[in-house]
Amino acid sequence: MKPDLHPVYPPSRIVCACGNVIESRSTRGSFHVEICSNCHPFFTGKYKLVDTEGRVERFRKKYEAKPAAAEAKKAKAPAKAKA
Ligand SMILES: [Zn+2]
Repeated sequence: MKPDLHPVYPPSRIVCACGNVIESRSTRGSFHVEICSNCHPFFTGKYKLVDTEGRVERFRKKYEAKPAAAEAKKAKAPAKAKA
């Protein structure tokens, strides 16, 4: 290898949020990831929502709170079509 040309490429540990640890090499050293091939639904075959900021929770709160309003809209819609 030529001197002063190659980047530092030490062994590193990539740690996933699920606890899986991958031993590899990286120029940026060890780091954490949110999802890996051990826990991603594509590889596990299990359905699982990947929710990082509570978005799913907020969506459910928003639309579960007022089911009556949604039904009221449905009832109004045909009346508007006639007029
Ligand atoms: Zn993982």
